[in-house]
Amino acid sequence: CAKQAGKNEVRFFASAMHGAAQEQAQLERRLRRALDSGAFRLHYQPVVTLGGAESSTFEALLRWTDAELGPVEPDRFIPAAESSGLIVPLGHWVLEEACRQLRGWHDAGHESFRVSVNVSPLQFEQATFVDDLTATLERHGVSPAALTLELTERLIVRDLSGAQHKMKALRACGVEVWIDDLGAGQTALSYLLRLPLSGVKIDRSFVQTLDDTGTGQMVQAMVALARALKLGVVAEGVETPEQLRSMQTLGCEQVQGFLLGRPMPAEAVVPWVGGRALEAQPGAQPGSEEL
Ligand code: C2E
Ligand code: MG
Ligand code: MG
Ligand code: MG
Repeated sequence: CAKQAGKNEVRFFASAMHGAAQEQAQLERRLRRALDSGAFRLHYQPVVTLGGAESSTFEALLRWTDAELGPVEPDRFIPAAESSGLIVPLGHWVLEEACRQLRGWHDAGHESFRVSVNVSPLQFEQATFVDDLTATLERHGVSPAALTLELTERLIVRDLSGAQHKMKALRACGVEVWIDDLGAGQTALSYLLRLPLSGVKIDRSFVQTLDDTGTGQMVQAMVALARALKLGVVAEGVETPEQLRSMQTLGCEQVQGFLLGRPMPAEAVVPWVGGRALEAQPGAQPGSEEL
């Protein structure tokens, strides 16, 4: 009987696997179609500099609404795009669209606007990545200084010397490289020493567990390391005024999160910046956070 139960379990497991594989294949088909039909959009989330300079960096975040599935979260479709290789053409589209948007903003007089783009390991590892990127910037007449790339620790673990080489090339042409989701992976921090980085983004999980013993000290340690290496620091996922105050106390100079601004369509960005400028004026309504 135990044997029989085991068999059933195996059969159940096999059919669940089959179902998951089918679902994956279906998702990939839909992704491919979405790419062909231009169904992807970029939203932009502000990265805010505390106590000073007008914020003008925005992280580009992919958005996709499927006709039948409805809005699909990046955390669901990015892995599918990565495992199918679709992330390469999709990543191309993201860079193309981000540069087109930057050019539009710069032409409209917002010369200080910068965009930060997430890049998947597979995309970054393409032999022509750096050449393609510089060609895209040139085609749109966008200065490399207006672009930041966000890479994850995953990539560095996969191929440290390859990553070093490409990052150097990017830095040489003026594109900034940041490490995203710092602390979420298993990178030895010593890796950071060997990469020509401009900054690090501290993973959202730290901000969200600030009440736990030790989290504050870890953030402080990351900030201290970044300072020693002369890197910028962004705290991700700030949702409450308390979290904002804590991150400020811990020495984070830049923050990103729903409290400061949600990801928004490109056309909402200029009005958002205008609204913040108004808030910053003396006599602004009490209650709007003093940042
Ligand atoms: P990420 O690069 O770490 O982006 C930050 C994520 O945190 C975004 O999720 C953003 O909407 C979310 N977020 C920002 N502030 C808050 C907050 O205060 N609270 C909470 N709970 N969440 C916040 P999103 O847009 O769903 O993207 C998820 C991930 O998908 C990104 O994480 C990134 O790894 C990936 N992704 C998004 N767009 C792209 C892309 O164009 N290319 C690649 N390769 N990956 C992308
Ligand atoms: Mg990111
Ligand atoms: Mg992140
Ligand atoms: Mg993430």
